Amino acid sequence: MSAVNRPRAAVVVTGSELLTGAILDRNGPWLSRELTGLGFEVAHLQLVGDRPDDLVRALDRALVDGCELIVTSGGLGPTADDLTAEVVAAFADAPLELDEAMYERIAAILAGFAARTGFGGPALDAANRKQAMVPRGAVALDPVGTAPGLVVPRPGGPLVVVLPGPPRELQGMWPAALAAAPVVDLLAGVPAAEARSLRYFGLPESEIAATLREIGADRDLSGVEVTTCLRRSELEVDLRPRPGAGDVAAALHAELALRHARHLVSADGASTDELLATALRERGWTVATGESCTGGMLAARLVDLAGSSDYVAGGVVAYSNSAKTGLLGVPAEMIATHGAVSPEVARALADGARERFGADVGVGITGVAGPGGGSEAKPVGYVCFCVTTADGQVLARDPLLPGGRTDIRERSTDVGMHLLLRAARGSQPA
Ligand code: AMP
Ligand code: MG
Repeated sequence: MSAVNRPRAAVVVTGSELLTGAILDRNGPWLSRELTGLGFEVAHLQLVGDRPDDLVRALDRALVDGCELIVTSGGLGPTADDLTAEVVAAFADAPLELDEAMYERIAAILAGFAARTGFGGPALDAANRKQAMVPRGAVALDPVGTAPGLVVPRPGGPLVVVLPGPPRELQGMWPAALAAAPVVDLLAGVPAAEARSLRYFGLPESEIAATLREIGADRDLSGVEVTTCLRRSELEVDLRPRPGAGDVAAALHAELALRHARHLVSADGASTDELLATALRERGWTVATGESCTGGMLAARLVDLAGSSDYVAGGVVAYSNSAKTGLLGVPAEMIATHGAVSPEVARALADGARERFGADVGVGITGVAGPGGGSEAKPVGYVCFCVTTADGQVLARDPLLPGGRTDIRERSTDVGMHLLLRAARGSQPA
């Protein structure tokens, strides 16, 4: 396989508050996903403080590592610690010059701010002037907040796209950055990503590893970058072909789908949430939830997608025994005999929710989320699920889920989604 590598890109996120842990980085992963989708190989995602020397080293590293594109986030504000434009200008060997037109545009935006807040005068004008400084030869991108972005070509490469830190502004400016002439020229030489993904539920990573070893023994897979990761209790396998290896990736994708068909959730990137919405709509079904340990997380997940009123009837958080009995009709004797966490109660929660809401499918979840409350017979992580349908299907599970309280509750929500999907698709449980 003589596949050439993909063009490389680097992401440099700045902000000292991200290094102290005060704020979680929302821009780095977002940009990495975008760049990967455009067909780049992202070489690295660097997170640096508001320190010019560190920023210079991050840019130099991208240069040394052969990146054709660098995207930076943050450090475009009016304060002294906002120094990305200066550092990038020096990196590109381009002096900063006042962009009069940009100065006027920012002034117009700031006039509104001054009128609303009463803050104005020389301080605001200095901020305006600083933010309107553009490296010679760069393209300025109109502000989404007050800070303009920049597209700065460095002679001999790489191209540097400089974006503001607030995620809403960064994402809002992205389309304009992609439409800037130097970026358009660069993208013309980037082969399409051709990425394929498969998602499985209930399949351990070791199974995929074994299958890949088997297939790889007869076939050269070196042109395809395969990554497996666990996301939301699902095993996601991403196949990214190097240019020219699209056919190898397509064949591998088909084979992985076939070999583990029983656990396959989707082979086209569709999310479980979207698949469930589609399946419920196709059936014309409505769903109702009776939740204990997940405390409404499944209902919240079900209404995440717009348009969910088409298929969500409602849900009850039946946390106490009296709520289970009073609101969903779970017999008190059943709880006394089998315990609140039991397959019997999960089923009664599902039936109760379905009947009370007049829904076509009901789901019941009851479990020991911990850290206390576990016993030898029912340890922390023991969760009972049941999905029942008006046409008589019953899908029940009582797994022991790993992790702490948050993990157990999140995984329980995932299991609930997958059981609903199986019921709505009418497929037999794996
Ligand atoms: P900056 O212009 O870099 O000073 O960023 C302004 C504000 O935007 C910061 O104080 C954060 O609240 C937010 N912000 C900046 N960068 C990020 C990031 N990578 N992820 C999330 N929020 C950010
Ligand atoms: Mg800052």
